[in-house]
Amino acid sequence: MEKRTPIRMCIACRRREPQKTLFRLQKKDGAVVKYSGVGRSFYICKECIVKEEEKLFKKISKILKVEKNSLEVVLKELRSNVKN
Ligand SMILES: [Zn+2]
Repeated sequence: MEKRTPIRMCIACRRREPQKTLFRLQKKDGAVVKYSGVGRSFYICKECIVKEEEKLFKKISKILKVEKNSLEVVLKELRSNVKN
């Protein structure tokens, strides 16, 4: 039987991608952190992470109502993990 890949949506560009290719983050105490396994989470795609655009930060921080700084820290860390 064929296994179906879970599809999730990137919070920034709203593109749907296989869950495996997306990065899972969560909001905790008003800041963005890596998903700990508990609580509400959201996904962001590799492309958005690599972009590093001010617009993207603004968009996400507006959607999530989080500090832009915490988002930048997390995205920077994720970017260093993304291998092209
Ligand atoms: Zn995206």
